Amino acid sequence: MTVLLGCIADDFTGGTDLAGMLVKAGMRTVQLIGVPSGPPPDNIDAIVIALKSRTNPAVDAVAESLAALRWLQQAGCRQFYAKYCSTFDSTPQGNIGPVADALMEALGTDFTIACPAFPANGRTIYKGYLFIGNELLNESGMRNHPLTPMHDASLVRVLQQQVSGKVGLADYSVVEQGADAIAARFAELRTQGHRYAIVDAVSNDDLMAIGAACADLPLVTGGSGIALGLPDNFRRRGLLAAHTVADRLPATGGRRAVIAGSCSVATQKQVAAMRAVASAFHVDPLQLARGDNVVAAALDWAAANLGEQPVLVYATATPETVRAVQAQLGVERAGTLVEEALAAIAQGLVRLGVGQLIVAGGETSGAVVKALGITGLIIGPEIDPGVPWTAALQNQATDMPLALALKSGNFGSEDFFIKAWSRLP
Ligand code: ADP
Repeated sequence: MTVLLGCIADDFTGGTDLAGMLVKAGMRTVQLIGVPSGPPPDNIDAIVIALKSRTNPAVDAVAESLAALRWLQQAGCRQFYAKYCSTFDSTPQGNIGPVADALMEALGTDFTIACPAFPANGRTIYKGYLFIGNELLNESGMRNHPLTPMHDASLVRVLQQQVSGKVGLADYSVVEQGADAIAARFAELRTQGHRYAIVDAVSNDDLMAIGAACADLPLVTGGSGIALGLPDNFRRRGLLAAHTVADRLPATGGRRAVIAGSCSVATQKQVAAMRAVASAFHVDPLQLARGDNVVAAALDWAAANLGEQPVLVYATATPETVRAVQAQLGVERAGTLVEEALAAIAQGLVRLGVGQLIVAGGETSGAVVKALGITGLIIGPEIDPGVPWTAALQNQATDMPLALALKSGNFGSEDFFIKAWSRLP
C-alpha cells in the first residue's frame, strides 16, 4: 500500500500532535524532520513532515511548504494536510494564510477549510470565534505569547488578513447536522466564490463529521483535531486496513530528563509541579546574554544530579519576566539565546546517558531535535491529548535509542512531567 495522507506541519510539536492523532485513529505514522531527501519509509499510512516555519518570513515558509508538498506527492500521497497550531498562532503577515494559498495553487484546487478546533484540549470554535477553554483566544494566555501574540478571536477576520481569496464560515447550525450538511455548505461557499471555510467544532463528533465532509478535498488545513475524521475516509474506500496496533515503539532506556523552553500557562504549572518533587536547573536568558557558560553549568549540575529520578532544566518564566527580558534583549534574540542553550544542554544530556527525554515548547523542541541530528520519529502511545511518546528513527547521528515526548506549550495536565514516564513501553 502506498502512503495515503501527506501532512505538512509548521512546527515540531504540532507535527507530533497530528501524527499522534493519526496513530490513534489507526494510521501507522512517521514524522520526518524537515523536507527529506530519500524515499519514504516502508509500511506507513501517513507521513507528517515537520517544518519550523511558524514564525519564519512568509516567503520562506511558503518555499519550504511547497518543497515538502512535492516530496509528499512523489511519495504517492492522495490527500494533503497543512497543520498549524490549535491556537492559530500567526502574525498578520502569516504564515497560515500564505502557506495555504500556495499549497492550493500547487494542488490546482480552489477551496479548503481552516479548522484549528481540538475540543479534547479545550480549543473549540463557535460562530467562527476560537475559544481556549472558557476564554476567547484574545483573552487567553495567547495574548502574551512571546512570538505570536493573538489579539483577535475571530478566525474569519484573522485568516482574511492573510489570504488573497474570500474567507467564509460553516457555522455550528450546519456542523451539528452532520457530514452531508457540512459538505453541502462547503459546496455553497465555493459557489459563492469563497476559497476558505472556517468551520465551527465543539466536540469530537463534530470533528468526525467535518473529517468525513473533507473526503474529496485535495487539501485540508487545521490543527490536529480534524485528522480524527480523515482515516475513515480511506477505510470507506478500501485503502486502509483496520490496523489494531499503530502505536508500537521500540524499547528505550537510560536516564530521564525534562527540558522546558515554553512559557505557556500549562508549562508554567507543569514546571512548578515538577520542581516540587525533582532536582531542577534554571536557565536565565540574561546570564546567556552576558556570555556566562550556562550550558556547561547546567551539564555539570546534570552530571551530579542524574540518577534514578528524572531531572528538570527550564527557562520557563512568567509573562512579566519574559517581557522584561525581551525589552532588554529583543524578542528574537531572547528566544534564540534560550533555544540554542537548551538545544546544547539536550546534546549534553544525551551524552550523559539520557535515553528518555521530554521537551516542552514548539520552537524549543525544534531546536532540540535539530541539535540531536534526529531525522524522524516513530509515533507511539499518547500521554495526554496531543502529546505521544515517540522514538527517534535511528541514523548516523543517533547511536543510542532515544524516546522523546515533544510537548506543545499549552498541552498536557499539570503532572505531565511526572506521570509521562509510566506510559513508555
Ligand atoms: P510554546 O510551545 O509554549 O509556544 P516555544 O518553545 O514554541 O513554546 O516558544 C517559547 C519561546 O520563548 C522560545 O523561543 C523560547 O526560547 C523563549 N523563551 C523561553 N524562556 C524564556 C525567557 N525566560 N525569556 C524570554 N524568552 C524565553
